[in-house]
Amino acid sequence: MKQRRITLSEQEIPEYWYNIRADMQHPSPPYLDCQRFEPVEPTVFGDFFPDETVEQMSTKKRWIAIPDAVRTAYSLWRPTPLQRAYELEKALDTPAKIYFKNEAGSLTNSHKINTAFPQCYYQKEAGCKRVVSEVGSGQWGLSLCLAAHYYGLTSDAFMVKLSHLREQYNSVLMKLWGGEICSSPSRSTQVGQHYHDKYPFSTGVLGIAIAESLEMTVKNRSEIGYVVGSIFGHVDIHQSIIGLEMIKQFEKIGTSPDVVISAFGSGSAFAGTCYPLMHWAKENQKNIRFIAVESSACPTLSKGEYRYDYVDTGAFMPLIPMYTLGSSFEAPPIFAGNMRYHGAGITASRLLKNKAFEVVAVKNTDAVKGGYRLASSEGLLPAYSTCYAMVAVIQEALKCRESGEEKVLVFCLDGLGDLSAGATALLSSTFQLLEPTDEEIQQSLRSLQTPQIEA
Ligand SMILES: *Cc1c(COP(=O)(O)O)cnc(C)c1O
Repeated sequence: MKQRRITLSEQEIPEYWYNIRADMQHPSPPYLDCQRFEPVEPTVFGDFFPDETVEQMSTKKRWIAIPDAVRTAYSLWRPTPLQRAYELEKALDTPAKIYFKNEAGSLTNSHKINTAFPQCYYQKEAGCKRVVSEVGSGQWGLSLCLAAHYYGLTSDAFMVKLSHLREQYNSVLMKLWGGEICSSPSRSTQVGQHYHDKYPFSTGVLGIAIAESLEMTVKNRSEIGYVVGSIFGHVDIHQSIIGLEMIKQFEKIGTSPDVVISAFGSGSAFAGTCYPLMHWAKENQKNIRFIAVESSACPTLSKGEYRYDYVDTGAFMPLIPMYTLGSSFEAPPIFAGNMRYHGAGITASRLLKNKAFEVVAVKNTDAVKGGYRLASSEGLLPAYSTCYAMVAVIQEALKCRESGEEKVLVFCLDGLGDLSAGATALLSSTFQLLEPTDEEIQQSLRSLQTPQIEA
């Protein structure tokens, strides 16, 4: 029988995370304060994050020890298997060898849990009683509530109204783990109230939900801490567990990937999957291509600008340097809610400026077809984000069919689809193309008053 899964034992869960900042030739420019646009120290993030996390946002240490209490928690769902997609290879009639790292089998069906646990742990160690965060996709909400619950903290989630309406099943699970859900924009914060008055029929945006979470945090910082699902450097560090395990798994079968592919919403799954392999490739003098797949409904990397922008609509946090479509950009309501944010992760943005990876923007109408190919061959229902990545995987596999090359492709299965809505979407033939026009993007970028970044 052919070996399908390459597994590791619990003892083989890595003991250190990898930090790409140690290996970046060009560090990210500093954060700026929102009023005078002057550089500020990362320590200002202490208003939201514990010291340990703030340290991780800026350190250049390459290897960071994973605390025992986190490594033990990781063993609840890790190590995750690296799996060979034989059935997909057959369906595509390709000589390519396709693998995927299965992060969808975690307790909360996605990779978000890899950072929720350490962040809640550090907040708890710093003396917090509650954690708060915005929720755009149900997967982050589940991870937040479960991790908080595990460490004995209470959790509050400002859930974008659209997601709250669509993802009732996730809301039930979040409540099961003691989470308190507030539909955003809400009336329990000033930013929420203000937005509500201005746009009474809004179905919410992530920027407001973040602002509501930050407002709640600063009002009672001694008890409350903020945790975040993506964008910041410490999240990329925690997610490196994905790629680090993958390296061990490929070493076990004596091979290594030629192409690594991941969906890109704000870049944490991409960072976790790719950054450790970027380091490994350099150490081992291998040539690996890295492909980030975004949605053409929110083409941050392919059509955005590298400049300073707001994280949240309330301007609680300093300005950060990132590829952005402008914080006033509202992406069309594609199902992949986690791919609709206006900006990209800080490190990924800096790396892209130096062309450290390739970008593909995929239409939502093609993504469902890509997802369908995976579902119908491997029997897996991928998250909407993974559906996007599948389009690039299929393209690369078909190129191998043309050339006859037996390349090794690997992608991150970053999440599992919702059984009812997800499956229905994959079967739907009446899917509508959702894309902003270039004019809409330009308009949003023109409205940005924030500083540009010199190359
Ligand atoms: C949050 C999320 C994403 C998008 O965020 P990244 O920071 O790009 O990883 C993609 N897929 C799933 C399943 C998610 O939960």
